[in-house]
Amino acid sequence: MASTKPLAPSSRPRAAQKARAARTARPDTSPAPDFAGVWEYAPAPEATDHLTIQPRYELFIGGQFVAPRSGKYFETINPANERVLAEVAEANEADVDAAVTAAERAYEKYWRRMPGRERGKYVYRIARMIQEKSRELAVLESMDGGKPIKESRDVDVPLAAAHFFYYAGWADKLEYALPGRQARAIGVCGQVIPWNFPLLMAAWKLAPALACGNVCVLKPAETTPLTALHLARLFQEADFPPGVVNVVTGAGATGAALVAHPKVRKVAFTGSTEVGKKIQRMAAGTGKRLTLELGGKAANIIFADAPIDQAVEGIVNGIYFNQGHVCCAGSRLLVEESVHDVVVRKLTHRIRTLRLGDPLDKNTDVGAINSRMQLDKIRELVDSGVQEGATLTQSSCKLPAKGYWFPPSFFTNVAQSFRIASEEIFGPVLAVQTFRTPDEAVEKANNTMYGLSAGVWTDKGSKIFKISQRLRAGVVWANTYNKFDPSSPFGGYKESGFGREGGRHGLAAYLEAV
Ligand code: NDP
Repeated sequence: MASTKPLAPSSRPRAAQKARAARTARPDTSPAPDFAGVWEYAPAPEATDHLTIQPRYELFIGGQFVAPRSGKYFETINPANERVLAEVAEANEADVDAAVTAAERAYEKYWRRMPGRERGKYVYRIARMIQEKSRELAVLESMDGGKPIKESRDVDVPLAAAHFFYYAGWADKLEYALPGRQARAIGVCGQVIPWNFPLLMAAWKLAPALACGNVCVLKPAETTPLTALHLARLFQEADFPPGVVNVVTGAGATGAALVAHPKVRKVAFTGSTEVGKKIQRMAAGTGKRLTLELGGKAANIIFADAPIDQAVEGIVNGIYFNQGHVCCAGSRLLVEESVHDVVVRKLTHRIRTLRLGDPLDKNTDVGAINSRMQLDKIRELVDSGVQEGATLTQSSCKLPAKGYWFPPSFFTNVAQSFRIASEEIFGPVLAVQTFRTPDEAVEKANNTMYGLSAGVWTDKGSKIFKISQRLRAGVVWANTYNKFDPSSPFGGYKESGFGREGGRHGLAAYLEAV
């Protein structure tokens, strides 16, 4: 998809551009929808009585839940009301060592000897069990992370199951994974995941690793450990050989101990570019295999000939889905100048209709910010945007008194040099910029240190192909946004990392060619 060719500067004279803009400009006549007092939603909270959250969670090592050698526990809270949900074990170096040792033993004793056909059955069983426990997992995900239940129920959990289904199918077909070469498993994989899609990221990491015959030690994020621990229970119930999957909870130090462990032969990390660089330095010279899926600042490009109403829905999905805690979020909107005003007006109306509040309410569109730290980061970047001179538009929705909340927001009058146009905000905040020619759109879209994803909205199929081939982004969506499928590879260019997850490409990270 990427092109490294230098971009030709636009030679179109300004007068011709203006004439073209006048031809494509659309009168902005749509009335503002007004639902006030007419259209009220009654609360529709998802029940929680079918779910048991234990007061305390231990580490999952060697097929058992065991107390940490560190003797320490930390609290995980519900970001929507700041109530403590549970205490969770904090793994230190000795705990990580125990998990890696258990994994290595399981690799030698069971997993590497098991035929792919049998391994596939185990992986398939997990997919079925996730489906059976889907309600419990969705509610837990929303409580621990703050995301709306309709997202955890309709996106996170079904996609997690789909990844296990998909990779179960590969377990006995690995001779087709690296065409022309024989493939074999690597051994112990250390996998560190973030807080934005806790269960789904666990599935992205575990499913291909296990299908390829590897064993795993997974480190979930400190603020969202619960669904990974409930998933660990499923591995236990599914009768996985003890030690094939281990879960060590804790903070950054736990992740660092896992990455540094000499018996870990492959590291997979999803998270910030800053930590990704640290991990790359730690792994350098050790011979460990490494894949990094890091930050993003994706351009969502709207051409004047795009179906504007659908594009506005794509903008909303691109930046307000999961409160903007999405590495591939369409956080930079590049809109053709002639339709800027109409797009901004429709977007202003649309964000007024987004319902922010209780993540467990089935009507909720925008849930809670994942942590106090993340909320502070969003506020700091938004303040910088205002100070640098951009114009802020925010939904006037009421924010709950307790918990961490930020209203759906966007900036106009954004210069390329502003921090909000270049740094990952990881919140429900969009930076809107304009362009006049396709060349300018491509140049602006690629003017970022990241390269994870992008969106293109236009009526013309040929334009989609032409533009998407010039975008330096791992994934380019056309007339849609944030679509995921286990058979599709996902990953970045530049400082968004390297390696691919998903699809046949995702197998390469977990196999050695012999
Ligand atoms: P991190 O990159 O710090 O966290 C990702 C995972 O790495 C977590 O499990 C974390 O543990 C762990 N970790 C932290 N430090 C180390 C280390 N030195 N060695 C190994 N593992 C480590 O992201 P943050 O949660 O701190 O978020 C910071 C920013 O990163 C966000 O504001 C956002 O911009 C970006 N981000 C991007 C993501 C993406 O998918 N692109 C995902 C998450 C964040 P712990 O949770 O305990 O700190």
